[in-house]
Amino acid sequence: MSVRNVLTWLEDAAASAPDAAAFDMPGCAMTWRETAAEAQRIGSFLAARLAARTPVLLLMEKSPACVCAMLGVAYAGCFYTPLDSSMPEARMRLIGETLRPGAILCEEKFASAAYRIADGAAVYQIEGISGEADPERLAERRRGHVDTDLLYVLFTSGSTGVPKGVSIAHRSVVDFVEWACGALRLPEGCRFGSQAPFYFDNSVLDIYCAMRMRGSLHLIPKADFMFPARLVKRLKEERIDTVFWVPSALTAVANAGVLQGGVLPDLRRVFFCGEVMPCRTLNLWRTALPEADYVNMYGPTEITDVCAWYRVDREFADADALPIGFPCENTRIDLIDGEICVTGTCLSPGYYNAPEKTAAAFVRNPMRPQIPEWMYRTGDLAAYNERGELMFLGRRDSQIKRSGYRIELGEIECALQSAQGVDSGCCVYDGERERIVCVWTGGADEKTLKRQLKERVPKYMLPDVWLRWDELPATGSGKIDRVKVKRIYEHSQH
Ligand code: AMP
Repeated sequence: MSVRNVLTWLEDAAASAPDAAAFDMPGCAMTWRETAAEAQRIGSFLAARLAARTPVLLLMEKSPACVCAMLGVAYAGCFYTPLDSSMPEARMRLIGETLRPGAILCEEKFASAAYRIADGAAVYQIEGISGEADPERLAERRRGHVDTDLLYVLFTSGSTGVPKGVSIAHRSVVDFVEWACGALRLPEGCRFGSQAPFYFDNSVLDIYCAMRMRGSLHLIPKADFMFPARLVKRLKEERIDTVFWVPSALTAVANAGVLQGGVLPDLRRVFFCGEVMPCRTLNLWRTALPEADYVNMYGPTEITDVCAWYRVDREFADADALPIGFPCENTRIDLIDGEICVTGTCLSPGYYNAPEKTAAAFVRNPMRPQIPEWMYRTGDLAAYNERGELMFLGRRDSQIKRSGYRIELGEIECALQSAQGVDSGCCVYDGERERIVCVWTGGADEKTLKRQLKERVPKYMLPDVWLRWDELPATGSGKIDRVKVKRIYEHSQH
């Protein structure tokens, strides 16, 4: 029977591997049976209070309790939005205004913040949810379910400053996870070392693939990513065999020199997504873990998580660009004027409560005018290489024109990130002064870096401003935060 609701996987795991660990971290272990029972209890509580298809905000740490809350919301036939508890309350309110949640589920320590942003929504503290599961009520909600019902809404930063709520239906997660488990050759009982915060789409793969494969989730504290030696120790001790991280996190570990050969014998799958993976980072990992499987995945939140993938199958020089490869099964990618446009079940039905933003990004397929076939315009540029693989070229909006030349900042960044003495780096454009600003961390000084870039990019692409910083700002999901880099640079100019 085909799966139409992600809860089917949870119930399968609870029935066929009840005592297998769903979460397995020091001081916090929970089986799949316990996870399902807790989700059903929370779901029954919510179903008694909220109508089906009501939005629910989650103001919780990244924890097993938060996963139980998400699944509880799904049991109630509702959909969830995890909030970054460290974001300013003003932004939480903006999200609340768009989402109009029926309830906020929170941990005790966030209760006062929850009340401050509630604006009419009920606030429930997760520790205070009492009562047993009510199988009849849950069954009734399930009978009313269709697979186009939403599972979650994730808010991403909008260019206008108002966050956009990407809504995703059960069927998109089902389609994606069934593909991922097979294509990525995930074994039963695999052990996921989860880096992505729950408000970032990469976490969807961690949570639901672990569930589908009756595996375990190891939620790695954010702080560990600042201490690579501690992080590697954790991966080893918890025998983590699969990671799906942003390249910045893999780069930090590789650069710290803590990846000697043999240090992580259990780690078999190193997957990444979310930003460009520098081949130099990939090569450091491959040298230390030659047996592991490496897969580059590409995709925005609007298409659930991943729409193109490339399993590393050959050698790359440090300065090469890594392909994003091929469309995932049941997903179509068209390049329209070089822009990646995606069609398929993976598509979000739109930005929640934002018809104009939806209409701008989700368009009718111009090649199929006979029917309303929807296409998501990613704003990313790509081209095919001579092997027929998709190559990511950068954001449409990171394409600049200077002295008549069309320049992709991404191309300069690729050269920058592979330069000797550069740990990490990026380029931003100061349009007012028509300057390309290059910022990096690592031992290289301006002169040696300039010399290296001169060998890699045409003269008209060479940056005008060279700034070596101690560290680069990161977004909540761990990628390089270019908006902040630009803001810091601009601030220094005034
Ligand atoms: P998000 O919606 O936060 O997942 O961000 C999606 C954006 O990250 C995409 O539109 C791309 O610009 C970028 N991105 C994601 N995966 C990759 C990748 N493998 N290589 C390069 N850029 C990527």
